[in-house]
Amino acid sequence: MSTLDKDQHFSLCCRDKTTASCDATNGELAKPPLQGLQLASHAALEEAQQKGRMKCSKCGGSRMFFCYTCCSLVGVSQQDVPLIKLPVKIDIIKHPNETDGKSTAIHAKILAPSDVTIYTYPCIPEFETDAVVLVFPGPGSVSVQDMMQCLRDRGSDGGCHEPCAKRLKSEHVQGATNTVASLESGTQNETKGCESKVYPLQRVVFIDSTWNQTNKIRTDERLQDLLQVELKTRKTCFWRHQKGKPDTYLSTIEAIYYFLRDYHEHWLSQEYDGEYDNLLYFYSYLHTVINKAKTLAGKT
Ligand SMILES: [Zn+2]
Repeated sequence: MSTLDKDQHFSLCCRDKTTASCDATNGELAKPPLQGLQLASHAALEEAQQKGRMKCSKCGGSRMFFCYTCCSLVGVSQQDVPLIKLPVKIDIIKHPNETDGKSTAIHAKILAPSDVTIYTYPCIPEFETDAVVLVFPGPGSVSVQDMMQCLRDRGSDGGCHEPCAKRLKSEHVQGATNTVASLESGTQNETKGCESKVYPLQRVVFIDSTWNQTNKIRTDERLQDLLQVELKTRKTCFWRHQKGKPDTYLSTIEAIYYFLRDYHEHWLSQEYDGEYDNLLYFYSYLHTVINKAKTLAGKT
């Protein structure tokens, strides 16, 4: 029986400390993560794992499931792997010194190729500040719920976004109770929001890097003016997250997945029904394999 790519495993354990938060109070967390996902069959991955690592037809590298260098499938055919359409474009900026095999960003590119672009820092595009957000924790960041209002304000005040974050803070108590009501009743605000709702957010930027190298990218002037969005209440499913780091530090693929769920519910105002679960197609499989291995190891 063959083993999985060790680098790949390692990557999922201890990288991607980029989308962190210490605030974990959501009731959803009571449910174990990665349970009840609507996933495509993992049969093809099981089969590929039995066969072991294979050579990538493009670069010749020894790989399992996919080649993280060429971004193509290895030992698995395209029809066996889900293809996902995302409601918004995702840009991932990765640090050049990072080993590609350690990144979960590649999962997103393989599963949603037409909506995901991976850039290697410092080669990043110019972003339109009123239509692009950066998912990154920090004092100036807002929640996905508040993101809508902030982008709308930016559009109307010519990009002066300081007042938005401040105002949101002062209105937060009131806002918390009003959100549900306004979504349900379809108030004037809500109706007005619908026009601009689907269109203003063009791209969502994620940084794929270890914690140490993240700040170099984060402080790049091309990202300075982007609205920062924080995922506040999700816990990572890393099978071995680093000591001393809160378990709300997410891997890149988890961060993208949870962002899209929030986006779906709060921005598109639709009930979430597993639309993006398959983003975790590889991640959940590897998670299961590692947990099995850990259980076995514990018994010997
Ligand atoms: Zn390759």
